[in-house]
Amino acid sequence: MIDLHTHSTCSDGSEPPMRVVDLAHAAGCTAMALTDHDGLSGIAEARARAEETGIEMIAGCEVSCRFEPGTQHILCYFAEPGDGPLEDQLARLRSEREERNRRLVLRLNELGIPVSHELLEEEAGGGAVGRPHFAAVLFHLGAVSSYQGAFDTLLAKGGPAYIPKASVDAPTLIAAARASGALAVLAHPLSLGLDPRALEREVRDLAGSGLVGLECWYGRYSPSQRRDLAALAARHGLVATGGSDFHGSYKPELRVGIGQGDLEVPDSVLSELEERRP
Ligand code: AMP
Ligand code: ZN
Ligand code: FE
Ligand code: FE
Repeated sequence: MIDLHTHSTCSDGSEPPMRVVDLAHAAGCTAMALTDHDGLSGIAEARARAEETGIEMIAGCEVSCRFEPGTQHILCYFAEPGDGPLEDQLARLRSEREERNRRLVLRLNELGIPVSHELLEEEAGGGAVGRPHFAAVLFHLGAVSSYQGAFDTLLAKGGPAYIPKASVDAPTLIAAARASGALAVLAHPLSLGLDPRALEREVRDLAGSGLVGLECWYGRYSPSQRRDLAALAARHGLVATGGSDFHGSYKPELRVGIGQGDLEVPDSVLSELEERRP
């Protein structure tokens, strides 16, 4: 069993990289990827812990790309920290995230909610601030009645406090990943918000741009959704990958390795991915 989609305190997970590795090991994973949003700052710590415990650790990250109508996230695997085209994109996206966060604080203040950067940084514990931290702070301030309510009434795409940030398109990001020796995989494909025919076309186009995999074995998907996505991947010569999308207490129902309890990504996925490395 492996888990190729996890988040730590370096982005919007609640557990430090070291602890994510320990949880993967305890769940019985032989390999795991740390895939924090927009950066690789947790990789060194995760790798050191993985070497101690004997689990294989794949360096990764997750990037939000410009897309309509839904959201498009691309996972990059075998992404080594350091200079290069991918790191250039990530650095730019991190500064855009900071700008988005500044505008989002102002928007929420305009709506009468006393959220501040100080509160957000405290919530994020030193990592990059994301919307899950906004949601937690809004809940703690009593501005919303639940964490999910913060998304449903304010923060979700199309909501009154939604501020777009993704400025990279998928083909550009995929090319930057490849130029840095990394592999691009489309995360949770159903979040694109496309009907089956449009999804088929989008996946075909992304494969043409150099995408190598489709995240089919996803923590939140049903058995039939997973099977349909695996068939879609096969039609376009893509590796069917998978992971939990673990975020710790921000998504308490998703656990490392097993997702909601029924996830089991086979070890063979990793060797299939490795065969696609440039
Ligand atoms: P950000 O990268 O800061 O825009 O935050 C994106 C993260 O917010 C995602 O990884 C999800 O964890 C979370 N998120 C986005 N939309 C929703 C939603 N509608 N409900 C719950 N969580 C969401
Ligand atoms: Zn996240
Ligand atoms: Fe995602
Ligand atoms: Fe994720």
